[in-house]
Amino acid sequence: MRFLMKFGGTSVADAQCIKRVVDILEGYHKAGDEVAVVVSAQRGVTDQLIALAEKLPTAKDCSEVPPLIAHLRERHMATLRGAAPDYVREVEEIIEKRLASLQHILFAIYNLRELTPRSKDYVISYGERLLAPVMGAALRQRGIPSTVFDGCEAGILTTSQHGEATALSRSDEIIKKKIGSLLKKEIPVVMGFMGCTENGIITTLGRSGSDYSASIIGAGIDADEIWIWTDVDGIMTSDPRVINDARVLKSVSYIEVMELSYFGAKVMHPRSIDPAMRKNILVRVKNTFNPSTPGTLIVRNGHRDSRIVKALTYIEKVASININGAQMIGRPGVAKAIFSALADREVNIMMISQGSSEANISLIVDESHLDAAVDALTPLVTDGIVREISHNRDVCAVAVVGAGMAGAAGTGGRIFTALGRAGVNVMIISQGSSEANISFVVRQQDGPRSVRVLHDEFQLSEECN
Ligand code: ADP
Ligand code: ASP
Ligand code: MG
Repeated sequence: MRFLMKFGGTSVADAQCIKRVVDILEGYHKAGDEVAVVVSAQRGVTDQLIALAEKLPTAKDCSEVPPLIAHLRERHMATLRGAAPDYVREVEEIIEKRLASLQHILFAIYNLRELTPRSKDYVISYGERLLAPVMGAALRQRGIPSTVFDGCEAGILTTSQHGEATALSRSDEIIKKKIGSLLKKEIPVVMGFMGCTENGIITTLGRSGSDYSASIIGAGIDADEIWIWTDVDGIMTSDPRVINDARVLKSVSYIEVMELSYFGAKVMHPRSIDPAMRKNILVRVKNTFNPSTPGTLIVRNGHRDSRIVKALTYIEKVASININGAQMIGRPGVAKAIFSALADREVNIMMISQGSSEANISLIVDESHLDAAVDALTPLVTDGIVREISHNRDVCAVAVVGAGMAGAAGTGGRIFTALGRAGVNVMIISQGSSEANISFVVRQQDGPRSVRVLHDEFQLSEECN
């Protein structure tokens, strides 16, 4: 079999974790399977890099730079010493060079008092840049040949949308040549989360983007299966940190995972299913700390079970925008004006709802896009196209996901009756055209409770075949 295996931040958090990962990989390598690996940064490192990079342009001095560099050195060197003792000299040199260039760029951000999307992407790719050489050395320590590639070297070509770049289809053939050609001899290691534009400018793929890298590389090498190794037993009926009796799902469909991750289920990056789906590659989510459990299978047509609703998720950092005006009724082009104005400012609309009276359109956007959205829409009031625009940050979006909802009458009724009984006020409702998702908006404080109520209503903690 040919596998792409991706290990997330918790799975590579220290030397012991890396050795556990090498144990897993060694097993497949010895059994004659071909494996390529994608690794994330160590848990917490990307957050630390983002926090400092964002602070520097307005910081009163740059005294926080050397301590972060020292901390990263200590953490990666400790991991290296523990996981690949014979390769300390060789890899230390790489780590030192990377830390020196990271320090330079952080000082430059402070001195210029400017963090551009391009420089931010470059800085935040350092978590993966520091960890991947350690992973490669840990494999060589076990006698498994391994070459390490950054995302760009591996062939991930992307759009120039910094912070949320998308892979170009041309990547496939480059990846096949660069990575696919090595699999008979070794386990290549690719740094997740990053790629580059056709001009070689480093881009990142969005938070949790290593899942997306895994799918891009897996599609490029024509993997039989893509395995996402993480710190839970698979995709669950809800976030286990919110619902303590959430259950692992045996199998879900591509569409269900897309709906779940789009609405905030952190277990997968929202766009990560796309390349796998294009090539019809089976994806499996497994637990690095419990490798013998089967995990969750993600396939084209999910396992048909008797359950209509499979999983629930909610996303906190959103805002609602209400656009009102009787003059919108029956007037063609209003929606076009709204959506073009938002697209021009690169505002991503997560949910749309329009009443049949057409006098009101409600939108849900990522909270970080709210200011740009309001700026973009204000001229429509001045021009008399709409009467008023209001917004609300105190909201969250909840999604009820299950491919079985398509064509099944009465699910909406059950959802909103259960919420009504629990006294939850639903502000906006929307159903995706895939019918695999009914989403709604409630006050932020009602988010976790809504999920709890519906988890009970649909008996999701009970075993199902
Ligand atoms: P990794 O570092 O391996 O990529 P993440 O922290 O990004 O791991 O994602 C795994 C985490 O996602 C889990 O520890 C869990 O808390 C969270 N999570 C949220 N929703 C779900 C869900 N529906 N199923 C499983 N895990 C979920
Ligand atoms: N290191 C990146 C992040 O924290 C990518 C990933 O973990 O998948 O977002
Ligand atoms: Mg992740």
